[in-house]
Amino acid sequence: MTVRIEGSCRCGAVRFACESHTPYPYQLCYCGICRKTAGGGGFAINLMGDAASLEVDGKRTLRIWHAELCDDDGNCETSAGERHFCARCASALWLFDPRWPELVHPFASAVDSDLPVPPARVHMMLRYAASWVEPLIGRDDQTFQDYPDQSIEQWHRQRGLWIP
Ligand SMILES: [Zn+2]
Ligand SMILES: [Zn+2]
Repeated sequence: MTVRIEGSCRCGAVRFACESHTPYPYQLCYCGICRKTAGGGGFAINLMGDAASLEVDGKRTLRIWHAELCDDDGNCETSAGERHFCARCASALWLFDPRWPELVHPFASAVDSDLPVPPARVHMMLRYAASWVEPLIGRDDQTFQDYPDQSIEQWHRQRGLWIP
C-alpha cells in the first residue's frame, strides 16, 4: 500500500526509488544547507521513505557530502547526515542519516513521480532564510524558526494522510 517514489538527477546518471508512507511534500526547509545545495525557491522540500526499500542505479556517480553545522556561538561540527548528490550534474538527491538508519529523505526536487499536493505546509528554519526570500505562508500553514514540533510521520498521521 505504500507509495513508490522514483527520482533521478538532472543528467540521468543516477536513478533511485523507494517506498514511502509519507509522500506529501509539505515541509519546506529554509536553512542555508538546503538553500545552497537544493533550494531554488530559497528552501528545499524533504520527503521520507523506507531506507530498506531504497534502490539505486548509477552508484558510481553518487557522492556524499557531510555538512558542517555551527551553533550560535560559532562551535562547529561535521554532520553525520550523508547528503547524496550526483558527481556529474550536482543534483541534490537524498539525505541518509546513520542515526535513523530505517529512514531515507529524498528531496522533492529530484522526484519524477507525481506527488500528492499537501493540504497545508510547514515552513521550518525560517531564521536562516536569506533576506530576499519571502515565504508564501498559506492560511493553514505552520511556521517555525527552527525545527517543527511534529515529525513527518506525526504530521501525516494527524491529518489521516499516512499510507499504511
Ligand atoms: Zn547527474
Ligand atoms: Zn534545510
